[in-house]
Amino acid sequence: GGQGSVALIVGVTGIVGNSLAEILPRSDTPGGPWKVYGVARRPRPNWHENCPVEYIQCDISDSALAKSKLSHLTDVTHIFYVTWASRSNEAENCKINGLMFRNLLQAVVPIATNLRHVCLQTGTKNYIGPFESFYNFESHDPPYSEDLPRLKVDNFYYTLEDVMFEEVAKKEGVTWSVHRPDIIFGFSPYSLMNIIVTLSVYAAICKHEGAPLMFPGTKEAWNCYAIASDADLVAEQEIWACVEPNAQNQAFNIHNADYFKWKHLWKVLAEQFGIEKYGFEEREKRATLAERMKDKGPVWEEIVKKNQLSPTKLEEVGGWWFVDTMLSGDAFISCMNKSKEHGFLGFRNSTKSFVHWIGKMKSQKIIPN
Ligand code: NDP
Repeated sequence: GGQGSVALIVGVTGIVGNSLAEILPRSDTPGGPWKVYGVARRPRPNWHENCPVEYIQCDISDSALAKSKLSHLTDVTHIFYVTWASRSNEAENCKINGLMFRNLLQAVVPIATNLRHVCLQTGTKNYIGPFESFYNFESHDPPYSEDLPRLKVDNFYYTLEDVMFEEVAKKEGVTWSVHRPDIIFGFSPYSLMNIIVTLSVYAAICKHEGAPLMFPGTKEAWNCYAIASDADLVAEQEIWACVEPNAQNQAFNIHNADYFKWKHLWKVLAEQFGIEKYGFEEREKRATLAERMKDKGPVWEEIVKKNQLSPTKLEEVGGWWFVDTMLSGDAFISCMNKSKEHGFLGFRNSTKSFVHWIGKMKSQKIIPN
């Protein structure tokens, strides 16, 4: 670490990208002072303007574009890869995500003469397989440790690791780390998967309509022990891996290192939106969020207008498919021992983390106060 650290955050407006963009420029961040570049496709949103980051608009799925738009990044020392693309099946996910990461690395690795480390963020699906095979594929027995063998099923996380190993090997002395969060509690209305914003939008709609806040998941999901990964904590582990010699060329799980139950957090969610009636109701057929919310576009429009929120469309902030999938059954618990044994002792109180990120969504006017 020390002098001359230069970060490139790929996916700088995403759920962890945004945390990295806020934490890296601070004067007390390990390995600093950091100069920070950040990449995303859309123009820089107003909620991102406070962090001192050089913002580069670039679609890394276009290799020629990546090479030209990133050609001035010769001083980058550390790459944080916190992005992904979603396609209709895992074979397609492997193709597009492999392509994006290879384009990025082939654009930056050859020109960044002082490159030292590449951080790749994947997740717990490393141990349970992709969304399409959730609950119908024999995965490993939890708690999951990092040394478990790969499952014999397509997984874009494996593709990303292999692309990284190949491209990093082309330059001597460059190290890597892989970070595997569970469901992330964080801030970003630009994220493909953000359970905080999705549940908040659902709660805001219930409040607006005077409806009870009913849990959309299964009985197993309501009752089981669950875990989450605070986005700032994920960023802290990624930064730690850049500066800790003991952490080089390793994969690490990352979650808050405490347990909660959704039935307890549900009460907290109801309180955050001033909803008195809430709970779980056993039904013959589950009513998913996707079904409950399918006609609520105009209601959300009304809520945005009435509360003078930052303009969003319901389909941008309501990640129904993601929350429906995550609340379908027992949680998947990964193990934090390796990370602790290597010296990363960070943790969060998941209930406080939940409240914190709802508060940030409110203060940034993404959801009603
Ligand atoms: P997000 O979806 O939150 O953010 C993605 C970021 O990448 C955004 O800034 C987006 O901005 C940008 N981006 C997307 N496509 C491109 C592109 N083609 N070129 C340049 N920038 C692009 O990412 P996550 O942090 O959720 O995902 C990173 C990894 O973490 C994934 O592998 C995911 O599976 C994993 N993970 C996520 C969890 C979660 O709860 N979110 C849980 C566990 C693991 P823009 O759209 O403007 O380009």
